Amino acid sequence: MVSYKELGLVNTREMFAKAIKGGYAIPAFNFNNMEQLQAIIKAAAETKSPVILQVSKGARNYANQTLLRYMAQGAVEYAKELGWEKPQIVLHLDHGDSFELCKSCVDFGFSSVMIDASSLPYEENIALTKKVVDYAHQYDVTVEAELGVLAGVEDEVSSAVSHYTKPEEVVDFATRTGCDSLAISIGTSHGAYKFTPEQCTRDPKTGRLVPPPLAFDVLDAVMEQLPGFPIVLHGSSSVPQEYVDMINQYGGKLPDAVGIPEEQLRKAAKSAVCKINIDSDSRLAFTAAVRKVFAEKPAEFDPRKYCGPARDLMTELYKHKIINVLGSDGKAE
Ligand SMILES: [Zn+2]
Repeated sequence: MVSYKELGLVNTREMFAKAIKGGYAIPAFNFNNMEQLQAIIKAAAETKSPVILQVSKGARNYANQTLLRYMAQGAVEYAKELGWEKPQIVLHLDHGDSFELCKSCVDFGFSSVMIDASSLPYEENIALTKKVVDYAHQYDVTVEAELGVLAGVEDEVSSAVSHYTKPEEVVDFATRTGCDSLAISIGTSHGAYKFTPEQCTRDPKTGRLVPPPLAFDVLDAVMEQLPGFPIVLHGSSSVPQEYVDMINQYGGKLPDAVGIPEEQLRKAAKSAVCKINIDSDSRLAFTAAVRKVFAEKPAEFDPRKYCGPARDLMTELYKHKIINVLGSDGKAE
């Protein structure tokens, strides 16, 4: 058993309480490798933003959970080296799908876990979530749960259709499970193809897809039921068209990739939404930068020469998100 407190990590409780009061949201960025982690920590340290490092089941399979844990521990020390005296970093399991997985993360130094039982019938979602909460809270690890179903694909999590969260269920769910935060479905979606062309309109000038707006009425109704309760948005990449264009220009093929407009996320961040998950945008930045180097310098074969530019572009992206979308800069001085 390793406590996250020994690793210099924090849980989400105080972070979320401050974010709701302050009208901003905490960035939750997924990481799978060293360059992503360096970029996240550099961006957070330079902007003094609290940050949530997310590890998905897919990341655990890709990078090995032991290695990822030590990387997160190293990230705390790296942040201090960058001049961030009191780094506020959470190590969070994204989309845990069983009690055993969540328990293993709690035992292994994670400061927060998500149990995603949203695909199960309501009563089973409650039972499994409560079991995880009861275990995690013994070690002061915070728990995110989910009600409603998001469309899209994220590692092993996928669903063809979304079901908005039912506001009439949230009080019962939060009370009976004791969860610390709740991921809801209001029209965000996993992946780089958040909407089909049929769900969008097309801008006649640019030919680009314009996605349908988020269901702010559902969010408002949830907040009315659970005043001051931390709400989480998954699948909140914006799929920046500059990266999509770069990828396509240098030999990639991502036609009609579309995300959630940043203005809508900015609006959500000002409400009880206090954690916004962004993964695809970082993947797009990484891929765009690597493709550019490969196209322009075909003789290059030193991974540092293409992973380096990818890291720089991701750092820029994370800082932009922190300052202009989440509003969390300067909140962890
Ligand atoms: Zn998710």
